Amino acid sequence: MTSGFGGTAPGLPTGSLVGRTALVTGGGSGIGRACVEALAGAGAFVHVVDLDARAAAEVARRVDGRAHPVDLADRAALASLPEDPDVLVNNAGLQHVAAIEDFPPQMFDRLQQVMVTAPFLLLRRALPHMYRRGWGRVVNISSVHGLRASPYKSGYVTAKHALEGLSKVTALEGAPHGVTSNCVNPGYVRTPLVERQIAAQAEAHGIPPEQVVGDVLLRGSAIKRLIEPEEVAAVALWLCGPHTGHVTGASLPMDGGWTAA
Ligand code: NAD
Repeated sequence: MTSGFGGTAPGLPTGSLVGRTALVTGGGSGIGRACVEALAGAGAFVHVVDLDARAAAEVARRVDGRAHPVDLADRAALASLPEDPDVLVNNAGLQHVAAIEDFPPQMFDRLQQVMVTAPFLLLRRALPHMYRRGWGRVVNISSVHGLRASPYKSGYVTAKHALEGLSKVTALEGAPHGVTSNCVNPGYVRTPLVERQIAAQAEAHGIPPEQVVGDVLLRGSAIKRLIEPEEVAAVALWLCGPHTGHVTGASLPMDGGWTAA
């Protein structure tokens, strides 16, 4: 099956984000990394925040940005991060799959800390700067699981639904200050996070990885291919561009028709 994705780098009019600073959490891998590259490509200076110090450093070096090796679940460590991004991409995330009765409470807490509390704390720090400048863009990488549930993903589905609420409140409070806030809601994207899920499901069900993709992950998707990280980054970048100042408080599914069914 062809991917149907041309693989071209996402773009905005040249130099659209020159003079802007962006902060991308989880920027060392997958969707976050693609967002870093897209924002830097449009001229922004990008802070790359990631638990994985080596990955953050490598991505930051490639875009002439700055790496911040930080665990977003460590509230005290957030104080070391810059307070002046014009663009905040809350992207870092993790998954844990287990029935509620077996779901480790510490893991549930960690998912909320990384995907809800950290975005809230980063907003608390960044919004005063955005308000002073009269311009800001908050892009929350949510998921179809911010809009729909699946069994065995209680921590993740809870966190993503909470992120949706936080994004909408940010949109309402930010509107008078030129700040927009939106969620992007991808289906399954070809990243290490999903590759780990494919491997685990293949082992659990004793089936080949391709069958996991076709029969399990893409069961609800009308388009039968994984999304590429660059496609998600293109939507994030578009939300930071010159024509989307009226798009706020929205949740933008890019799920191959999953939520249309
Ligand atoms: P990924 O595993 O490739 O990248 C996630 C990055 O976040 C990693 O570099 C990791 O080190 C970092 N991270 C995790 N915990 C962290 C912490 N405590 N502190 C700092 N950094 C931390 O995953 P991805 O698929 O690119 O996912 C990025 C976001 O997109 C997540 O929020 C995920 O929920 C969301 N998403 C992914 C998919 C998908 O199919 N891959 C679909 C919908 C939404």
